[in-house]
Amino acid sequence: MKLSFHGAARGVTGSCFLLKTKDQNGKDYQILIDCGMFQGARYADEANFEPFHFKVKEIDAVFITHAHADHTGRLPKLIAAGYKGPIYCTHPTRPLTRLVLEDSFHIMSENSRRNGDPLLYEQEDVAGVFEQCECVNYHEQITMGPGFTLMYHEAGHILGSAYISIETEGKRLVFSGDLGNNDVPILPDTEPLSQADYVVCESTYGHVLHEDPKGRTEILHQVIKETVEHKGVLLIPSFSIERTQEVLYEMDQIFEHTYHVKMPIFLDSPMAIRATELYRHYQQYLQFEANILEETDKDFFSFPNLHETLQTEESKAINDFPKPKVIIAGSGMMHGGRIMHHLIRYLPDTDCCLFIVGYQAEGTLGRQIFEGAKNVRIFGQEVKVQAQVKAIGAFSAHADQAKLTTWLQPIDGRLPKKIILVHGDPEPQQVFAAHLRHELRVEVVAPEFLEEIDL
Ligand SMILES: [Zn+2]
Repeated sequence: MKLSFHGAARGVTGSCFLLKTKDQNGKDYQILIDCGMFQGARYADEANFEPFHFKVKEIDAVFITHAHADHTGRLPKLIAAGYKGPIYCTHPTRPLTRLVLEDSFHIMSENSRRNGDPLLYEQEDVAGVFEQCECVNYHEQITMGPGFTLMYHEAGHILGSAYISIETEGKRLVFSGDLGNNDVPILPDTEPLSQADYVVCESTYGHVLHEDPKGRTEILHQVIKETVEHKGVLLIPSFSIERTQEVLYEMDQIFEHTYHVKMPIFLDSPMAIRATELYRHYQQYLQFEANILEETDKDFFSFPNLHETLQTEESKAINDFPKPKVIIAGSGMMHGGRIMHHLIRYLPDTDCCLFIVGYQAEGTLGRQIFEGAKNVRIFGQEVKVQAQVKAIGAFSAHADQAKLTTWLQPIDGRLPKKIILVHGDPEPQQVFAAHLRHELRVEVVAPEFLEEIDL
């Protein structure tokens, strides 16, 4: 069989892998694992507009690991290019993907209206994705042909996230998708790996170790307490899917069990509000800490004084609420969305605390502030940074080096023949590859964009 890399090769975005294989009767198949969008990097837009480097009409099936745009963002483009086959995913991934793709389309149409940028696909192509979705359960066997089957396993990265195992040509191949951090309080743990011949593994944080996530409730509790004492504003830029729900869950625990204080908390992001609705709806896919399991019918993402401000007018009215208050708004890297208006207002305020809970990519406003900029430009306006800036790494949604290394060692037998690193920047990948070769003594490769390897 042959595997080629159509994204997330020596880079973190655009996940898309093409597997060419045969079943026991010699019938040929071509399947895609993920079909994500290139994001962030300078040439990302052009890369998304490049035609696919495979024949779309020859693809038999698409398998999506999870809803994030860097794994699903080019699905409508695939539909526009004539793909008519099934798109497999878990039950929660379907509506979450819809949220992600509709949001992308909205941003794209705005840019097109404002700057005349071309559209990557049309609205009807987004709808097409959902008509072709086939939802599967974890551990349900999907049979493509005799001796060619696939299965979804819990990845613990976001609601509905999975890694995928494939049995074909007498071999077992695993695609990690994105794997979650250890001890995330609302998600099940990543399912341990069973013996596999080849593992295609993400390597986003393959070069680092995260802070211990267990201390994060205390840190969050502390900044909330300081906000109340200083009568300040706590501003939390947050990613709509997963990070926001983790923060809400931690706050629910703090406000219901340890710190009883009346202070308005605003969830000021339409996409995060809708994603939180899905987290509530698919609560059976989540996992809460054992000590609170008796509260089974409880909504862990709501607490008194939480205001979900869906409408623009409600968002603007947040300004009129007296301090202290907490505002959770997107985007997570502060390069757009409602957080921008709050930053203009509160960054110059010495009673404000900006609490960074996620990765800040190079070139974003978030990165500038994180690195200590004293003046920033927002919507052409000079803004002084006089607020306190605090960051916590423990909310990362990705596995670190220790977690990935442990996961790659199967619970039931020998190590993989080959580990194929994807979804990581070149330098972290090199560090992680060297670490794995040294620790596990296995072959590790990091293929280039469009490289094809024989398995
Ligand atoms: Zn992801």
